[in-house]
Amino acid sequence: MGSIKDNLGKLQKRINDACLVASRKPSSVKLLAVSKTKPSGMVQEAIEAGQSDFGENYLQDAMAKISEVPEATWHYIGAIQSNKTRDIAANFDWVHTLASEKIARRLHSQRGESAPPLNVLLQVNLNNEPGKSGVDEHVLPSLIESTLQFDHLILRGLMAIPQKSDDVILQRDNFQKLAELQVTIQQQYRLADFCELSMGMSADLEAAISAGATWIRIGTAIFGERV
Ligand SMILES: *Cc1c(COP(=O)(O)O)cnc(C)c1O
Repeated sequence: MGSIKDNLGKLQKRINDACLVASRKPSSVKLLAVSKTKPSGMVQEAIEAGQSDFGENYLQDAMAKISEVPEATWHYIGAIQSNKTRDIAANFDWVHTLASEKIARRLHSQRGESAPPLNVLLQVNLNNEPGKSGVDEHVLPSLIESTLQFDHLILRGLMAIPQKSDDVILQRDNFQKLAELQVTIQQQYRLADFCELSMGMSADLEAAISAGATWIRIGTAIFGERV
């Protein structure tokens, strides 16, 4: 592994190359640096190299880092149980993994009036895989309609973690399916801000970018293996 700065440079090159192939502007793809389990010194190092946005899934671990590096923009990307919503609503700027009305209602009421609305993405279980996080596609309309009533939340788009596959065509099919859902919802509900697609990790970021990803989520390639 190189330094965090070198790793970010290599990753940006990969993003730029994928954008060139997809005829997209590199600025249309944002990098979420997944810093889960990594110390705040590494987050600081990434900030010094120009990285602004960080993703976390372990709440206790994240809270310590957020208090040490409050200038970063923090995204929650883990499963959300009810007992976590208060801390998530109070400490994060984005949530990528909203998947139920109950959690939406709690995040809304716990976000409070003084903070700007919490940016939320709805997590979709693309292949209806049993036991996997995210809502089934057919549940999306009712979840959107309820979330729209919660004005301390702002609906920003969709997120998915598709089945792992080495087949680039299959990867792209899944990402395209999510992209089509996002466009359909944006038009149907006339949601100008519903423009984000959080999809793609180290192994499949090219496929995700070609299908329209606006947030790619990368941990290991920036910070090294987790133990
Ligand atoms: C851990 C994680 C990532 C990053 O995974 P890496 O393999 O470290 O790049 C991306 N998205 C989610 C939801 C994660 O939990």
